[in-house]
Amino acid sequence: MKIDILTIFPEMFTGFLTSSLLGKAVKKNILNINCIDIRSFTEDKHNTVDDKPFGGGVGMVMKAEPVYKAIKSTGVKKHNNLYKKPFKKPLVVFMSPQGEKLNTDMVKQLSKYDHLVLLCGHYEGIDERAMNWVDKEVSIGDYVLTGGEVPAMVLIDAVSRMIPGVVKEKLSVEQDSFFNGMLDYPHYTRPAKFKNMKVPDVLLSGNHAEIEKWKNKQSFERTQKRRPDLLKK
Ligand code: SAM
Repeated sequence: MKIDILTIFPEMFTGFLTSSLLGKAVKKNILNINCIDIRSFTEDKHNTVDDKPFGGGVGMVMKAEPVYKAIKSTGVKKHNNLYKKPFKKPLVVFMSPQGEKLNTDMVKQLSKYDHLVLLCGHYEGIDERAMNWVDKEVSIGDYVLTGGEVPAMVLIDAVSRMIPGVVKEKLSVEQDSFFNGMLDYPHYTRPAKFKNMKVPDVLLSGNHAEIEKWKNKQSFERTQKRRPDLLKK
């Protein structure tokens, strides 16, 4: 999968794209991720990407033109049909607190695209006219962050986990919370006794059928207790 990140702070992605599973996936070319600096599409000597809002008000607004040019540089021509095959064209996603909230279903859908373009806003946001080149607005939750970079990292991390080869064991992704509408069961590792707390006996029994039963029960009970809304779905 190719992901182009449009940002005015490309340096924020350095550690993120070179560490952990994502770093490995980038190295192995499973993920081709590029940070594109929106400032490089400005023409004045100060590389100005923002200006005062029309109509007054506090804060600054990101200008439409550099954003438009940055989007066009990724090969985007016109709007896509959301979630309709083929997923060959780039999908332009604007990270925005006003967008549709990211969840596992959306993550699975997004992972089917060959090419995502993630637009990160700053200040009060982006001149609304640039939205003509955006296919979808995605929020990571009902709170406001200073910029779209952290939300873009959240989206990239979640979507990448769905791509074969990024997480070594497919089952590990499929058993995680939300994948099948339930929360994950509790996990334990060595030692079997820690500060007088023992690992549940069944996990040491070697009886795979019983262990499986225990895991399913734990998963169900946790979901019932913590997220009953998931069971209703
Ligand atoms: N004035 C905007 C509003 O109230 O809707 C908030 C602007 S915010 C300070 C600056 C940028 O951060 C946004 O344009 C967006 O790209 C990003 N951002 C902030 N919170 C976000 C969230 N919850 N999900 C996704 N992106 C977010």
